[in-house]
Amino acid sequence: MKKRLFTPGPTPVPESVMLRMAEPIIHHRHPEFSELFTRVCENLQYVFQTAHEVLTLTSSGTGAMEAVVCNVHSPGETAVYVNGGKFGERWGEILRAYGVNAVEVRVEWGDSVLPGQIQSALEQHPNARAVYLTHSETSTGAATDVKEIAKVVRERKDVLTIVDGITAVGALELRMDEWGIDCVVTGSQKGLMIPPGLAFVAVSPRAWESINSSRCPRYYFDLRAARKALGSNDTPWTPAISLLTGLDAALAMICREGIEQVWARHARLATALRSATKALGLQILAKEPSNALTAIRIPESIDSKKFSTFLKKTYGITAAGGQGALAGKIIRISHLGYYDELDMIAVISAIEMALTGCGFAFERGAGIRAAQESFLRHSP
Ligand SMILES: *Cc1c(COP(=O)(O)O)cnc(C)c1O
Repeated sequence: MKKRLFTPGPTPVPESVMLRMAEPIIHHRHPEFSELFTRVCENLQYVFQTAHEVLTLTSSGTGAMEAVVCNVHSPGETAVYVNGGKFGERWGEILRAYGVNAVEVRVEWGDSVLPGQIQSALEQHPNARAVYLTHSETSTGAATDVKEIAKVVRERKDVLTIVDGITAVGALELRMDEWGIDCVVTGSQKGLMIPPGLAFVAVSPRAWESINSSRCPRYYFDLRAARKALGSNDTPWTPAISLLTGLDAALAMICREGIEQVWARHARLATALRSATKALGLQILAKEPSNALTAIRIPESIDSKKFSTFLKKTYGITAAGGQGALAGKIIRISHLGYYDELDMIAVISAIEMALTGCGFAFERGAGIRAAQESFLRHSP
């Protein structure tokens, strides 16, 4: 049976990228590595839309989140973070672990924070040094208006805007420099289309000022060490070399397509899946849905376990369930990274058959038709 992965990380890896990773390993203190790493760093800057350094860490995405917190702050400082899902909540946990006074802006899971909520949090906590956002909240499928919020934060010159872009980079429009964002983090197994194991942090000059004066303990994740090594097209410690080789191939694909076209493709796939969802009589959890994934509410009449087992056992489809309080209530379908129109048609078709298998009443074919119409209306 053909396996089809529809989870929002890890995401499918293109064949050409897998073949590159199968090549004999190179050594990271030799010119062939510096040449590759220089190209990777430049292409990462393009993907992040920044002229500032993008640092590569060998860890999962959470490592990059932790690196930002322990480099930017000193214990006892105050920071605001948005908890609109599992990953926003994680910012709070990391901040507290490093002795930062973490002020939570809570939004209903599935909702997106409004610029006004950030404004009032900053008014109530004028000593806050940073605002932590999640651009695409992978646990709920909600998108945050990072551009507008960054504007509000920029009105205070001592406050940094820090963005978890882990399912946003390479999927949603994100212009780090133009929007005035100070740190953006991502992980390798999401929009960058390679396996898990690398994480990235882009850092603005303002953020470097905080990093250079921070009093938090740090060693492996010391961003000053990563910056210094970058000066000689290198990393301070042995990186996941094979993943960097794969990344080189994946970034070449993104550059060939063009970042704007990559964002447009994600929008096209997301729009079609959303209209199919509605045509099937199902609901989308997020009010402002992310173009990286769609979280669909599972009707109460359906046994969610039976539904996902049907997808997996009958059609080889792996989708993601809900996390925490959303367990059993939603199914999350990814369109993040290496996907095209017919991947969406396939997953919608499987969903329709699984719904039928679970006894749900709807007009069979309605989802497929809605998706086809959407694709025909929005052809590239
Ligand atoms: C996947 C993800 C993370 C965590 O990344 P890991 O690689 O699992 O450590 C954090 N934030 C968001 C938004 C994610 O999608």
